[in-house]
Formats: sequence, C-alpha cells, structure tokens
Amino acid sequence: RRAKRDGLGIAVFNPQDRASVHDRLLLRGELRTALAQGQFLLHLQPKIFLNGGPGGSGGPMGFEALTRWAHPERGMIPPDRFIPVIEVSDLIHPFTLWVVDQAVACCARLQAVHPGVGMAVNVSARNLLDGHFPGQVGDALRRHGLAPALLELEVTESAIMADPARALETLHALSALGVRLSIDDFGTGYSSFAYLNRLPVNALKIDQSFVAGMAADTDMRAIVRSIIEMSHTLGLMVIAEGIETQETLDLLRGMGCDVGQGYFIGYPAPESSAEDWLRDH
Ligand code: C2E
Ligand code: MG
Ligand code: MG
Ligand code: MG
Repeated sequence: RRAKRDGLGIAVFNPQDRASVHDRLLLRGELRTALAQGQFLLHLQPKIFLNGGPGGSGGPMGFEALTRWAHPERGMIPPDRFIPVIEVSDLIHPFTLWVVDQAVACCARLQAVHPGVGMAVNVSARNLLDGHFPGQVGDALRRHGLAPALLELEVTESAIMADPARALETLHALSALGVRLSIDDFGTGYSSFAYLNRLPVNALKIDQSFVAGMAADTDMRAIVRSIIEMSHTLGLMVIAEGIETQETLDLLRGMGCDVGQGYFIGYPAPESSAEDWLRDH
C-alpha cells in the first residue's frame, strides 16, 4: 500500500504536477509532523572571497544553510519539493524560525574552527510580512551568542514585491539588528536598480542561470559584468551562485565579483563536512 502511494507520488509536491487539494493537505500534515519530529536538517554550502576579504582572496566567507527533509520512508527530499507548500501555509513561521535557530547555533559553533565565518538563511515572502520576525531573529542571535553581522538573510525580489511597504518595514527592522541582507536569485525578478537602491540590503546574489551561461555566452557575460559594476556603484557586495567550473570562477574574479558559491567550490553538505572544509581552507 505504501509502495503504491509512493508510486503515485502523492505526498511530495512537484511544481509540474497539479496536485489535488487532498494531496496538498496530506503533504501539509506530513510537513507539520516533520517539523515536530525533527525530520528537517541543514546542509551547508561554502562561499569564498573571489576578490578581497580578510586573509586575501580564496578564503572562506561563510556558508548558506539549505534545508533538506530526511523523510522516514522516501529518503532525502530537496527543498524545491516541499518549500513551496510550506510557504503558502502558516507553517512557514515556525519553519523559518527553526532554520534560523539551527543556522545561528551552527554558525556560533563554527567560530571555534574559523572565527568570523558567516551563515546565510533563506527567508520567504510571508516572513517579511510578519512583524514578530525581526525580534525573533534577534532572540536567536542572543540565545546563541552570535554577532548579528555574521548572519545573512537572503530574500528574493519577488518576496519583497508581494507587499513592498510591509516588506520594507521588516527589512529595516532586520537591518537595525545588524544582520546582513541580500537579494537572492538576482536577475530573475523585477531587477530595478533604482528600487534596489532604496532597500537596506548589503549584497546581491547573481542568479545561477546567468552564471552557468557565462562561459559559453558572451551576452550573458556582458550582463554579469554590468550587474557587478552597477552593484558596486550602489555600494553592494556581489555574490555569484552556481559556479561549476574553474573557467567561470576565473571570469568572475576578473570582473571584480566579491564572493563565489557553487559546486566547483563546494557542495551543500552536513556540518561535519563544513568543519572539514573550513580546516582545509
Ligand atoms: P537558493 O537559495 O537560490 O539556493 C541555491 C540552490 O542552488 C541550492 O539548491 C543549491 O544546492 C544549488 N546550487 C548551489 N551551487 C550550485 C551549482 O554550482 N550548480 C547548480 N546547478 N546548483 C547549485 P537547493 O538546496 O536544492 O535549494 C533550492 C532552493 O530552495 C533554494 O534556492 C531556496 O530558494 C530554497 N530553500 C532551501 N532551503 C530553504 C529554507 O530553509 N528556507 C526557504 N525559505 N527556502 C529554502
Ligand atoms: Mg539562497
Ligand atoms: Mg539563489
Ligand atoms: Mg533559488
């Protein structure tokens, strides 16, 4: 019976499927249980300085915390298969707080291996509409004794555009705590530099679709180059995600990109691997 249910792919959301309301409710219930029973875990993906940075380029900047669901029967489930369902339910509030708490605790532990190493967490649109969120982030930082500047929150342009006025209020409150803010998947949304200039953000992450296309496509390369230049004009740090080859890394470094992330630098992995990676760098 279990196999049949799995074969039908009922309980795991696939953006391509038009899952029934019943399936969605089933999955939502399972996700609630997953959070209560500790079935989620964080994998950490390293980011390195491509230019500048303490200790010169090539040094570790920090990690991005990426959540996985260790499902008791179906094994490891990637975030694209369950985050979209969490995001449209109230579960997104306790879920994101759990991720923030775990990521902050982990970052505090990693200070013993590499002082100053940072941690980034992905935040959803609904978290930006929650007036309690900044205070709760502040609580997590105090509880684990982590300097706020070592925590980075990644938000997408579309998450901000869902309700720009309220999102801006939350972003200002988070910024006032001293945490760093970055725009994730930059280039896939509205991408107005004029608007970006009004946001209290520190960094911009160039979407991996641009980065992946850079080596072979000179137009992509020109786009990436101008994103980097405009960001620097606005005083923003630039992070390139999805670096898969030495060639792409060298191109980005040559363009003055500040920070790099991608499989070529390191895969998302459990905390123990992140510690090993830090010791090797
Ligand atoms: P993202 O925040 O843009 O994260 C980058 C994604 O690209 C990650 O996928 C990462 O594993 C993948 N990636 C990194 N380097 C490379 C590369 O060189 N090549 C390729 N092809 N991919 C690379 P992942 O872990 O499957 O996460 C997917 C998305 O799920 C994330 O995109 C983020 O939007 C969301 N997500 C993950 N964890 C959380 C979370 O705790 N909360 C929220 N709200 N969203 C999350
Ligand atoms: Mg991200
Ligand atoms: Mg991204
Ligand atoms: Mg993404």
